[in-house]
Amino acid sequence: MKIGFIGLGNMGAPMASNLANAGHEVTGFDVAGTTAEGVTIAASASEAATGRDAVVTMLPNGAILRTVAAEIIPAMAADTAFIDCSTVDVESARAVAEQALEAGLLPVDAPVSGGIGGAQAGTLTFMAGGSEKAFAKAQPLFEIMGAKSVHCGEAGAGQAAKICNNMILGISMLGTCEAFALAEKLGLDWQKMFDVVSTSSGSCWSVNTYCPAPGIGPQSPADNDYRPGFAAELMLKDLLLSQDAAESTGATTPIGARATELYANFVEQGGRGRDFSAVLEMLRKKT
Ligand code: NAD
Repeated sequence: MKIGFIGLGNMGAPMASNLANAGHEVTGFDVAGTTAEGVTIAASASEAATGRDAVVTMLPNGAILRTVAAEIIPAMAADTAFIDCSTVDVESARAVAEQALEAGLLPVDAPVSGGIGGAQAGTLTFMAGGSEKAFAKAQPLFEIMGAKSVHCGEAGAGQAAKICNNMILGISMLGTCEAFALAEKLGLDWQKMFDVVSTSSGSCWSVNTYCPAPGIGPQSPADNDYRPGFAAELMLKDLLLSQDAAESTGATTPIGARATELYANFVEQGGRGRDFSAVLEMLRKKT
């Protein structure tokens, strides 16, 4: 396939390279002038999107997605798949999908889970929203860039799944960090705590796979001085999206709201650029 790829950042560059390494002809564009191995660089987003079978976007937020979409939609021929893998608000995802449908395109919102490591290894999970036809056209590309894709429903359903998942993650990581900080104050050995919790009803991904306590459990950013991983400010971004969505739909998310406040404090107080599990350090410092 001829593929356009717009947004060659931490995630987009390795994803675009994986498509090129699988034998696709990939043309990319990024305003910052970044490149990706095996990818031909175009002079603009619309040039990267012209004459392609599919266009993938991997951008920072909904406002930028809307701007890029307005530029590239007129350049794309009918039946081109327009696959947005950025994490954005559900409203932007739906608005862009509507414009793309009016132009006869096949839009899919397909945010990912798995981080930079997953993007490099081609093991991302894609959560997709769009028509059956659009999902079917995008799926072979998901299989190259990821290990799993789930068709969650119509336009916006992928973003909805992503923000709900990450609200659980933010909350469960804070709960895990609080429990490890409390265990320390109680004089409970962290390894013993892990041995119990990881096979008990408190077990969860934050404990078992991504333990925030250094030296405990499988290798995680805690064992690498909390280098991300998944940066605290990206967790804050996703929690803010969950709170926007809760407000616009009237959903009640009191723990999600508190988690958002705590991550906002953490990012302000030195957490920016650190892994989101480093909240444990902040809790340990507070007496
Ligand atoms: P990034 O900032 O490294 O990459 C975004 C890229 O988009 C940048 O290179 C930027 O120059 C480019 N860009 C901005 N405006 C543009 C425009 N108008 N035209 C073309 N390019 C433009 O961010 P990232 O870490 O790659 O994340 C991308 C998306 O994936 C975000 O929505 C993020 O929330 C989501 N995400 C990130 C992770 C992660 O661990 N980094 C995990 C899951 C999802």
